[in-house]
Amino acid sequence: MPALDPRRLRLVAPPRSAHPATPRVRPHSPFVADALARARRELIAAVAPPACLACGDALASADAELCERCRRALPWLSGPCCPRCALPLPCGDPCPAEGASFTRAWAPLAYDGVARALVGALKFRGSLPVAELMAAQLAAGIPRELVGGDGVALVPVPLPPARQRTRGFDQARRIATALAARTGLPLEPCLRRAGPATRQLGASAAALREAGSDEVVAIAYARALRR
Ligand SMILES: [Zn+2]
Ligand SMILES: [Zn+2]
Repeated sequence: MPALDPRRLRLVAPPRSAHPATPRVRPHSPFVADALARARRELIAAVAPPACLACGDALASADAELCERCRRALPWLSGPCCPRCALPLPCGDPCPAEGASFTRAWAPLAYDGVARALVGALKFRGSLPVAELMAAQLAAGIPRELVGGDGVALVPVPLPPARQRTRGFDQARRIATALAARTGLPLEPCLRRAGPATRQLGASAAALREAGSDEVVAIAYARALRR
């Protein structure tokens, strides 16, 4: 066989019809999507065993977010609570939310124990799956009168820009986005920070309540509120 002369070689693109057909991507059924997500979690779990989001102990299942001990210790607020500050009654005299700029509040959990550990995991260790877990806890128990009817929107209170740059994400935005996906409520990030923020960690209750220490202003009307 004669040797090939490289000077006589040229690249020739195959005719378009010779290109292999691009495989058509068909949407998966929910069943297939769930199975793929489960397989992915189990694959990841084989490399990095899942850990409890609150205490860090190893988990038996890749589907769980909390270990059994932490799940049982979640401080659910199930009794009668103050509609203004969301704390169990009696909330205090005066109500800690007296003078606040909101008239109603609700929380599924007390800021204590495992719930406090979860907040810390999200804010200070960047454990983003906590935002999804919190959204699930909110969506499961949120009072109908708070979210029913027209003109309701989810409006996350933004982090100060400098803190968001340091942290790399805005936890309120993450939780609100996950909650919007679960509830179908519109997400309206229409606030921005004005002025310096009070550092919450270690701040006294009086400092947190101080008027004007943590201002946010509306930069646009939420679409849902313009209806
Ligand atoms: Zn745990
Ligand atoms: Zn109260």
